[in-house]
Amino acid sequence: MLGDRRYSFNKRLITDNALDFSKRSSFVREVMLEKVYPTRLIVPMLQHYGVPAVPTVDVGEYVTIGQCIGAPEPGSFSVPIHSGISGTVTDIRDVSLPNGVKCRAVCIESDRKRTYHPSINPRSNVQISASEFMGIVKNAGIVGMGGEGIPTIAKINRARAEGVNEVLVNCLQSEPYSYSDFLRITDSADYIVMGAVALAGAVGVRRIRFLVSSTNGQEITALQAAMQRTAGEYSGYSFDFASFKSRFPQGYYRMVAKALYGKILGENDTLESTCHAVLFNCSTVFACWNAVADGLPLMSRVLTVTGEDGMGHNVLAPIGTPVSELLDSVNGKLETNNTIVWGSCLTGLVMNDPDNTPIIKTTSAVTIVRDADVHEYPCIHCGSCIENCPMELEPGIVTTLIRQGRYDEADQEGARKCISCGACAYVCPSGLPLTSTIASFAATKRNSVVSAYSTTEKIDIGSVTLMEAYDGYASAQEVKEDDTMVLPFEGGKFI
Ligand code: SF4
Ligand code: SF4
Repeated sequence: MLGDRRYSFNKRLITDNALDFSKRSSFVREVMLEKVYPTRLIVPMLQHYGVPAVPTVDVGEYVTIGQCIGAPEPGSFSVPIHSGISGTVTDIRDVSLPNGVKCRAVCIESDRKRTYHPSINPRSNVQISASEFMGIVKNAGIVGMGGEGIPTIAKINRARAEGVNEVLVNCLQSEPYSYSDFLRITDSADYIVMGAVALAGAVGVRRIRFLVSSTNGQEITALQAAMQRTAGEYSGYSFDFASFKSRFPQGYYRMVAKALYGKILGENDTLESTCHAVLFNCSTVFACWNAVADGLPLMSRVLTVTGEDGMGHNVLAPIGTPVSELLDSVNGKLETNNTIVWGSCLTGLVMNDPDNTPIIKTTSAVTIVRDADVHEYPCIHCGSCIENCPMELEPGIVTTLIRQGRYDEADQEGARKCISCGACAYVCPSGLPLTSTIASFAATKRNSVVSAYSTTEKIDIGSVTLMEAYDGYASAQEVKEDDTMVLPFEGGKFI
């Protein structure tokens, strides 16, 4: 199943694994899972591409685990939001997230009883149809957990409409020090395999490919064992692996298109339309099966809490957990000369208020980095930024053009293609703020709009808006009877 070929995108002069920072750092690489039980949650109503859900609870109301506390307005491009703890709603207020999102949030004080909502029940002896599966995914509020936050139901529907040939499961978490997906795969491989089959059945394809890093042999072993364990329970699906070189940002869909299909996606191209494939992050796949088998909506996630001072944990935390409680739970030291990053060390965002900043559905890491007093020097034309830019930009030149106000020229140099990966700024020996300069400019050029309270505003995902790209795919389309699929589990069998 695993051939000799190792896929990757081209990076001009870059040597293999030059951005594999994990070999150079003392950051802990702990893969064990710890559970976090916060005393309170701050649950934003906008954690995804789309428009905010609307709170369905009132201050003073008692809520339980798995209860829907925010629902999409009819006809809006949104997903429901659920509580990950039981307790009392203490406030419904505005919050500002590090990514610029401003929205309403439901604040809940835990009663420490961990009471589940009566609707949460494991399924047993179930055979469900594609349309039932899609309904489960939609009601569970599942969105892409690899960073994009695109509602999974919209992705399924678009893949169906585009007539894709295969489902790709993205196991290429390439950000340094982030191991949450690795843990999900090795710990819950059966759920990933089953979730992939369910998604393939919903999309209407039989071919499933797992995209794995060539350096993470344990993932392949775990998935192969899971395939063997579940092999007798479904038929007609073919599994395959595509092994990728360990490069950052290999899991980004444009890099996958380039490496796997040799296609360079244009600004308006999608993986579905150009490569006839649909890509789901492995944690998203897990969430789908968790919803099917255990009846659990997306209300918690595994994320990596990492940094110096002995931190390096994979934790399972309810969505909405304040970052300060997350750090307390792993004894994270918040020295005054440390910076908290909401996300991983390359693409994450600096945050300043850990008491009032929660983790959301797309938060795969929280990182503590030591403040460095970085001096900025003139460009020495070393070319490192060019060698490391996955979008093949010339970041030093683009930055100079932007700083000189030569915006049209910067745009002609392709600035708006920047994916904010952070590689150029990391490697620049002159300490130039390349990423922040280019990414801010790119966002401006793309008319990036973050919805605050409107239910009609569009969210920018590049050169097209999400509502244009996915409009019409958000609500479950009619599924024909012959789309019925038999899912690979039997009565009472749970992992
Ligand atoms: S941040 Fe943008 S310009 Fe810099 S390396 Fe990444 S894609 Fe290229
Ligand atoms: S990495 Fe920095 S110093 Fe080197 S060419 Fe790019 S901007 Fe100039």
